[in-house]
Amino acid sequence: MERQFFPQDLLEQQIVERGINSPRILSVLKTVDRSAFVPENLKANAYEDRPLPIAEGQTISQPYIVAYMADSANIEPEDRVLEIGTGSVYQASVLAEIGALVFTIERQKELYDRTQISYPLMKKYATKIKFFYGDGFEGLPGFAPFDKILITAAAPFVPEKLIAQLKPGGKMVLPLGEQEDRQTMTRITKLADGTLETESFSDFVFVPMLSGKATKA
Ligand code: SAH
Repeated sequence: MERQFFPQDLLEQQIVERGINSPRILSVLKTVDRSAFVPENLKANAYEDRPLPIAEGQTISQPYIVAYMADSANIEPEDRVLEIGTGSVYQASVLAEIGALVFTIERQKELYDRTQISYPLMKKYATKIKFFYGDGFEGLPGFAPFDKILITAAAPFVPEKLIAQLKPGGKMVLPLGEQEDRQTMTRITKLADGTLETESFSDFVFVPMLSGKATKA
């Protein structure tokens, strides 16, 4: 039995009581240590029910959001998953721990560079997570098609190029909306004949999805 990092009472309050019961997701949340992905001075806060600041004005997502998106996309072992917004790598690690092969894109050079050096858990997931520095609006046409696509920043519109990179039968989950203070979690399923089915869920607040790569001056 692997060590449980996520305190059981907090897991119940934050995840189970809000309706996420997938044994696979609950087991993975226990196993991936969120404190490994937060800055030194916030390690004591790692299991709080909120996003935490990482660097470059960006955040590590709230555990509930990570669970919610994985559940909504029905991430399964062996899925090829494209994640837009690597950030702290916490979410990518959760997907990898489920057994998916994760292709993750980050537009902030500084954050991308960190992924290449500093994460103690990277060894464990090295073969399961592929890191890219680039613009998520473009996706990764060279590695498409994907079973699932997760956008982990607020998308003002549905990026057409990403829809094109989804397999028939595949699902994209994204917080969608032009407003800064509220986006609607949206699931788009590409049916076998290529038509799209769109479903809307609860509202959340994400940092914005921005165009183009960013380097530090
Ligand atoms: N999944 C992350 C949290 C994401 S926060 C985690 O587990 O920590 C959103 C991230 O998306 C930020 O790091 C931000 O820089 C990045 N981002 C925003 N717009 C992007 C784009 N167009 N392409 C790639 N990454 C983007």
